[in-house]
Amino acid sequence: MEDCVFCKIVRGEIPCDMVYEDERFLVFNDIQPQAPVHMLLIPKKHVKSISAMTDEDIALVGQMVNIATRIAAAAGISAKGFRLVTNSGKEGGQIVPHLHWHILGGRQLSGELG
Ligand code: 5GP
Ligand code: ZN
Repeated sequence: MEDCVFCKIVRGEIPCDMVYEDERFLVFNDIQPQAPVHMLLIPKKHVKSISAMTDEDIALVGQMVNIATRIAAAAGISAKGFRLVTNSGKEGGQIVPHLHWHILGGRQLSGELG
């Protein structure tokens, strides 16, 4: 079992403000939102980052983008625009070593992460 904060959320050991769940993915609100809408989309499978992905994970990435755009639309941030970003490694700004996509919107974003 992974000693990882997002794996603990997947297992229900740490609570989250859940937005969406299916067999493979979970979407929940970020605990320290950087924008009016700031959700995190994670695979339930522990993958460290996009850099750790293999050819087997190609479909997973496509599914994640598809879910992210649908969740953004459902959250009402699609028409005005939103940002989908994933950090990889220390200099990429990744703090939690479990692949996640930030879904950000609800204000004008700019700069590195807006
Ligand atoms: P990173 O810098 O790794 O790309 O982003 C990690 C994100 O996870 C941060 O925005 C941080 O606020 C969020 N985060 C860290 N721990 C928790 C947690 O226990 N619950 C929730 N909902 N978000 C978390
Ligand atoms: Zn994990």
